[in-house]
Amino acid sequence: MPDAKKSEPAPRPGIVYLVGAGPGDPGLMTVRGLACLRRAEVVIYDYLANPALLNEAPAGVARVYVGKSKGRHCVPQEEINTLLAEHARAGRTVVRLKGGDPFIFGRGGEEAGFLAAAGIPFEVVPGITAGLAAAAYAGIPLTHRDYTTSLAMVTGHLTSERDLDHVDWARLAKGVGTLVIYMGLSNLDEIAARLITHGRPPQTPVALVRWATTPRQQTLTGTLADIAAKVAAADFQPPAVIIIGEVVGLRDTLRWFDNRPLFGRRILVTRAADQAAPMLDALLTHGAEPVPCPTIGIVPPASYAELDAGIAQMGEVDFLILTSANAVEAFFARLAVAGRDARALAGVTLVTVGPKTAAALATFGLRADLMPAGYDAEGVITLLRGKVAGKQVLYPRAALARDLIVTELTAAGATVIAPVAYTSAPPAGATETARTALTAGLDLLTFTASSTVRNFAELLGPEELLRARSLPSAVIGPQTAATARELGFTVAIEPAEATLEAMVAAIVDYFTQA
Ligand code: SAH
Repeated sequence: MPDAKKSEPAPRPGIVYLVGAGPGDPGLMTVRGLACLRRAEVVIYDYLANPALLNEAPAGVARVYVGKSKGRHCVPQEEINTLLAEHARAGRTVVRLKGGDPFIFGRGGEEAGFLAAAGIPFEVVPGITAGLAAAAYAGIPLTHRDYTTSLAMVTGHLTSERDLDHVDWARLAKGVGTLVIYMGLSNLDEIAARLITHGRPPQTPVALVRWATTPRQQTLTGTLADIAAKVAAADFQPPAVIIIGEVVGLRDTLRWFDNRPLFGRRILVTRAADQAAPMLDALLTHGAEPVPCPTIGIVPPASYAELDAGIAQMGEVDFLILTSANAVEAFFARLAVAGRDARALAGVTLVTVGPKTAAALATFGLRADLMPAGYDAEGVITLLRGKVAGKQVLYPRAALARDLIVTELTAAGATVIAPVAYTSAPPAGATETARTALTAGLDLLTFTASSTVRNFAELLGPEELLRARSLPSAVIGPQTAATARELGFTVAIEPAEATLEAMVAAIVDYFTQA
């Protein structure tokens, strides 16, 4: 009988996804591409793929940069091919993330060809190519019934005179309406001259779009006759696409992206990460580049001794008051540490301050018994004042919470245990984030609470603090304004109403009047 011991199974073959990352704006990547990225076991990416997308890959997954950028050492194509093959042969799910579309001037065809020849499974996920995206974000329809019926995508990366002659400029000049040229900036004078020689009118409009779809997008317009001189005068740099044709003139009326009131403004957002989304969205909508720098976050208290002691007395507790989702989470986390679960709350009246806290409680399978109409501490007191005489109340709270509930319910005859369940502090890495943001340059700082001002100031070294103080700040509420002034910040925007909407409107006014 042959040896019963089975040989090791061959590794499951991996796969390579050639994924188009889109032109820059992370929102322009496809749903399919994102799904691949989220299950990647290794990501191999390029210069023009937005690095923010890399955060979508699972934590701990290797991210390998093989970028080719002008004037920089680049990884040879054969090496990239070998890398893809090695990872796939080891059974991994490989995402090869490429700027724009993998099959448009991205050497995706060569990579796929190599994989096909090597018998390695692969799939191609198309992306929005830079030419299409640049046109859309510059307000230039690449086709339009009144102006053109055809479109060509052309490479301008031609290293010699002879190379340049490989493109049939005569046919492109006369036979095609709109031309979109990639990698053409350094040959622009030659390209324009050839198109004119072959019969394109010198007055044909031309637009160059640089860093399309990002907050750094820049557009330069001219004509075939003068565009090369304008590029030199403005020192306009790659990466850019060149759009040539009568449709370019439509930008005057269809421009929508780079004329929004806050376009190109870098605005620091110091709010807690879990509260910043509405503000980031509002700023983005007006064209700004919000720079998230959370200066505050929820962290465990210095000690859980108080909370644990409160939990140990659960048997005698009549009311449990929860005033935030954070309190709910901290309470149940420590309950679990004590080896107990929701059954410890049998017979306890559960009070939540509002629907968000009630929803957090519901995730533990529990329904709130009481909730005040006003969703605030005063409401909780009104609700409980007549019910708690002689009763035990457990109220796990934030370290900085006002002690109104404690004093008022004690006065109403209750025994209140109010352990600290969580506290707030700058999150890990905040110093680095703040410094990087300041070094890269900012147009405005925003503060929505005194704690954000104080924490931000504490994150900075003396020189950075000087620089931050010289920038205009927008603040919400008189208390925040007072703290900001006290710490030497330049309060330039202080909306009459203490709401996010009012602050964003005031920011828009400030920059449109400036
Ligand atoms: N596969 C990519 C193109 C790679 S070739 C795609 O489909 O978009 C690199 C060229 O693409 C650059 O030289 C430039 O012409 C263009 N490009 C890429 N990203 C760009 C961007 N965000 N803005 C303007 N041009 C861009």
